[in-house]
Amino acid sequence: MRRKMVAGNWKMNMTPSQAVRLAEELKPQVSSEEVDVVFCVPAIDIVPVAEAVKGSSISVGAENMYYEEKGAYTGEIAPDMLVDAGVKYVIIGHSERRQYFKEDDAMLNKKVRKAIEHSLVPILCCGETLEQREEGVTLSFVKQQITSAFESVPAEDAVKCVIAYEPIWAIGTGKVATTEQAQEVCGAIRENIRELYGEKTAEQIRILYGGSVNAGNAAQLFAQPDIDGGLVGGASLKPEFAEIVNYKKEN
Ligand code: PEP
Repeated sequence: MRRKMVAGNWKMNMTPSQAVRLAEELKPQVSSEEVDVVFCVPAIDIVPVAEAVKGSSISVGAENMYYEEKGAYTGEIAPDMLVDAGVKYVIIGHSERRQYFKEDDAMLNKKVRKAIEHSLVPILCCGETLEQREEGVTLSFVKQQITSAFESVPAEDAVKCVIAYEPIWAIGTGKVATTEQAQEVCGAIRENIRELYGEKTAEQIRILYGGSVNAGNAAQLFAQPDIDGGLVGGASLKPEFAEIVNYKKEN
């Protein structure tokens, strides 16, 4: 039985003092025994947020990471810096990083492997553009993203990763994928993992849906057989995040 997960992606929002206030406000409402809750926060907020959630069941995640150990990479963050700061999860390959910072599949594979090497759990993002959906290439495109990201990753490591299916046209737009669309792609991703690694890994790996998840649609999305929770952007900065985490009680 896979545990549900709800991860907030705070993106480039919240100064350190704002971040601490938000973490403290959400903490009592999102400390869940059933759902793994993660705050993925800007790099500068990691240390104060980790301190703010200490003693709770909430984990801290990073929004990005570089694939080298250390050195002359001005502005980048190394995996052991994240680990030392108390980070457990790291978002890799968010569509905003692919689009604005030109992160390609080869780079993302390096990041996935480096995160695993440091016992960080990658939350690997994938998903198609609106044009790709309209052209009918969604499943083949996402399959290629997944296959490439997991290249040279052994099954015992792959199973610990989290995949987030985030159709680009649904991110921050208020246009949520229908439960059928979300389930179809998440099911296809699980099938892809089955082809790459076999049944056991496919049954254990967690696949999230992301794209305008809110308090009103979370329960229906998370009830789909291949959707193990959500990666939440906009709503993760509001009290609504607690309703998403507690989706079973709210609906
Ligand atoms: C995201 O940024 O990963 C995301 C899913 O954003 P939103 O929930 O705002 O669509």
